Amino acid sequence: MARLQRQLLELGPLHPGSITEQYNVCGQPGCRCKDPKKPQKHGPYYQLSFTWQGKGSTRFLRPEQVEPMRRKVASYKRLRELVNEWVALEIERERAEREKEKRAGGN
Ligand SMILES: [Zn+2]
Repeated sequence: MARLQRQLLELGPLHPGSITEQYNVCGQPGCRCKDPKKPQKHGPYYQLSFTWQGKGSTRFLRPEQVEPMRRKVASYKRLRELVNEWVALEIERERAEREKEKRAGGN
């Protein structure tokens, strides 16, 4: 329990969501992105998508924002893992407590 709490405190900046990489085609005639032989699409563009309190959002990330956001997304994932672990421990503890009471009551 103390280990979980310490790890939670050490998480640092975090953000829910996932980052996707996209390549686009533009509307400009004769652009390299529409080359019939070897089209080179524009990009990559990075998008962060997440759902929070039932509401979905998508944001474009500037190239310099991608790495910091990857770290925040990883921290958020870690947070969820730690919280799940904590809750699982608490449920198990509660169950063990009841077992003990039941045995004590039965005597
Ligand atoms: Zn283009």
